[in-house]
Amino acid sequence: MKVFIAGLDTETNTFAPIPTGRHAFAEGFIAHGDATRRPENYCSAQLNVWRRRAEERGWEVAESLCAFAEPGGIVVRSVYEEFRDEILADLRRAMPVDIVALALHGAMVAAGYDDCEGDILARVREIVGANVPIGAELDLHCHITEAMLRHATALVAYKEYPHIDIPARAEDLFSLLADAATGRTRPVMASFDCRMINTYRTTEQPLRGFVDRMLALEGRDGILSVSLGHGFPWGDVAEIGAKVVVIADGDRGKAERLARRLGEEFVAMREAIAPRFLTMDEALDRALAIDGGPVVIADVSDNAGGGAPGDATFFLKRVRERGLRNVASAFYWDPVAVRSAMEAGLGATFELRIGGKSGPASGDPVDLRVTVKGLADRLTQRFGQAPVEMGASAWVAADGIDLVLTSLRTQVFHPEGMTGLGLDPTRRKLVIVKSTQHFHAGFAPIAKAILYAAPPGALSPDFTAIPYSKLTRPYWPKVADPFA
Ligand SMILES: [Zn+2]
Repeated sequence: MKVFIAGLDTETNTFAPIPTGRHAFAEGFIAHGDATRRPENYCSAQLNVWRRRAEERGWEVAESLCAFAEPGGIVVRSVYEEFRDEILADLRRAMPVDIVALALHGAMVAAGYDDCEGDILARVREIVGANVPIGAELDLHCHITEAMLRHATALVAYKEYPHIDIPARAEDLFSLLADAATGRTRPVMASFDCRMINTYRTTEQPLRGFVDRMLALEGRDGILSVSLGHGFPWGDVAEIGAKVVVIADGDRGKAERLARRLGEEFVAMREAIAPRFLTMDEALDRALAIDGGPVVIADVSDNAGGGAPGDATFFLKRVRERGLRNVASAFYWDPVAVRSAMEAGLGATFELRIGGKSGPASGDPVDLRVTVKGLADRLTQRFGQAPVEMGASAWVAADGIDLVLTSLRTQVFHPEGMTGLGLDPTRRKLVIVKSTQHFHAGFAPIAKAILYAAPPGALSPDFTAIPYSKLTRPYWPKVADPFA
């Protein structure tokens, strides 16, 4: 038996002003067939699982490209095509193969390709033929399309947000593909379109219980896998929205019935699971009313992980206007400011212009007289177990406000992005982080309370106002009942 593995992963915010090209992938990760011999990241983590599982069985592994870029704007066409064609060329060379396992995102859009994953899966299917199981592990922030469902044997999405279960889902997908390849099962997929566009936290009820029930349904009564694609709201593509995918063993009707049942259950929960966001002032008022700290406030509108620039200044400006002190805020993507801080040196005090550089969605730059409190040539923070690069980074302080500036664009995952510079967030009253939900895994253990705020910004969660041009179906929350 021979298993072909590859990964190509980025999430595309088609409304973001930052093109995703060769530099974005180079800053993320690119490995031409040797990702599993390098330090693990969240994309190669899946390939590592698949290689280990195959080798435990004495199966041969053909490893191709593994590449990811921080979410951003539309992927440059030639960059996408070159990566895709590298995978396809490696696959042709590796043929015949018995299993194809791919680490994809599900919301990647390139110029001329609204559905990159569907395109890849179709071309892979063309090469391997109808009978070889093809599986893709997807981020739950995916657009599950007809092309993906048609050409893949199995689509398995992360179940958790924050995405703490990437290796666990890779294990699931491998088992599914191995059983199919050895003739033990005959996977058939069905999906249900929930016609919902929003973001959802699996850490909170009632969605927590729904996810636990999805897990409990798997592996019994002929059900092989249950996924809920939450969808990615900032993609202007026709097939956007939340979808349930069920894989059953040989019985398509069973898969269809369960997908519909779970989908309808999810639709019925919509008002209860819609995340509520505070205004900046509501969040600050509520945080100040809480005894002790740190109170962690998520700035969800400037989350680089959803393709936002990560240099918005709305919150910083408001905190200064209110004269608040003992506040830490991170990360501001500002390579120019980092360079100036490095040049000035540790302990230096000087005038620094911070943020607001990427476009109108980032607000105006803020000019501060800062003191450089910490510097690092190369800093990382954990996402799950894998280190995420932040590049050269600086901790600067002004008037009781501590800011972490980075030269690579990334959302806040973990406090070690602050402690690595010597900034201790547990000693601050307020910690404002640019992230929608991934910060939760790292910050919940140190937070007195967690609040979610939606200032203006590129990732503003006003889902009734996103200017979709290709979506033709009704969707909630634009309409109260999308099935009426
Ligand atoms: Zn995601």
